[in-house]
Amino acid sequence: MAKKTVKDIAWAGKTAVMRCDFNVPLKDGAISDDTRIRAALPTIEYLKEQGAAIVIMSHLGRPKGKAVPEMSLAPVAARLSEYLGCDVKFVASDVVVDDEVKDAAKALQAGEIMLIENVRYRNEETDNDPEFAKDLADLGDVFVQEAFGTAHRAHASTTGIAAYIPAVSGFLIEKELKYLGMAVDNPERPLCAIMGGAKVADKITLIGNLLDKVDKLVIGGGMAFTFLKAMGFSIGTSLLDEEGLCTIDDIFAKAEERGVEICLPVDVVCADAFSNDAAFDTYDVKDIPADRMGLDIGPKTVEKYLAAINSSKTVVWNGPMGVFEMSNFAAGTKAVAECLAKHECTTVIGGGDSAAAVEQFGFTADMTHVSTGGGASLEFLEGKTLPGIAIIEEC
Ligand code: AMP
Repeated sequence: MAKKTVKDIAWAGKTAVMRCDFNVPLKDGAISDDTRIRAALPTIEYLKEQGAAIVIMSHLGRPKGKAVPEMSLAPVAARLSEYLGCDVKFVASDVVVDDEVKDAAKALQAGEIMLIENVRYRNEETDNDPEFAKDLADLGDVFVQEAFGTAHRAHASTTGIAAYIPAVSGFLIEKELKYLGMAVDNPERPLCAIMGGAKVADKITLIGNLLDKVDKLVIGGGMAFTFLKAMGFSIGTSLLDEEGLCTIDDIFAKAEERGVEICLPVDVVCADAFSNDAAFDTYDVKDIPADRMGLDIGPKTVEKYLAAINSSKTVVWNGPMGVFEMSNFAAGTKAVAECLAKHECTTVIGGGDSAAAVEQFGFTADMTHVSTGGGASLEFLEGKTLPGIAIIEEC
């Protein structure tokens, strides 16, 4: 069932209370990357054009329930004003909402915008306290959910607020739901999932859910070594996830039952230490030396994985193929990212490390969708209900 968006509301005379993800990196008090601010502009501009007054809220960092000036949203208000070409009032309060903030929200005219202080200055935010949620709801008429990165958290400003006023999505959330939803529920087939990252145990629910949906499951990154170990290979000093190891037989059994092909590395790049300065070489998976650790997939594996991608119509990617943060072990992740960027298919990149890798290699614009939420996209792909999405009204 589709969710209501900002387009389903007649905004004239109404005030939108919009939850954004303005958890931007700050360096010496200045915003060092404003991607998240720019991402929210289309929804804000739409609301403005439609004659809504707009109250924006967000968290920034982890102030743990108290006012921390270094985590104030003041720099965000200034940057928003620059981009929108109008004054975005920053109505700051150490308790986030007080009488002055309420009065300022009431006084807003059509098209005017104000930003309130970091909602995590109050513990009531993460506790999803109903009174704090009501205080936030009292600032306007309709809740606009635009913070996918925190949609898996039931907090006052992401979930609780919707007990008091109707909730719709902004354009960012609409896009997340469209592409993540399509990838797992209604994909153009064949559907291939590429899994990587460190531990199997962290992604076991995801793998279990995806085995019900995908045609092919490609495994790379640290977790591949736990699979190789379960198959009887010696993996040297590579990452072994003991907790995940005992689940591998079930994964293979489920894959067989569902007719899902699991692709695993045939060669790997191994080093004598977890360092970019370490000596390294490529080994067949049956020849991994006892004193070496696998830190990337090898060239034959890359070839095999690119073939899997090129024969798919939809690809979902979550987790790097190797330690891409170190240049000597980034080749596998880069090759996969480049192939996804060039191949004519629907490419959906889960947030977090895979999104960071795609950005690092300069391919973000070439993907169909790069999710803005790490934990949230993982939980969505796991088939879980995200509380911040569940509260958005259905059409
Ligand atoms: P995750 O958060 O589970 O997606 O894991 C991402 C992290 O896994 C990244 O920081 C990678 O450097 C790391 N990683 C990828 N491949 C390996 C590997 N072969 N050994 C150890 N860590 C890895």
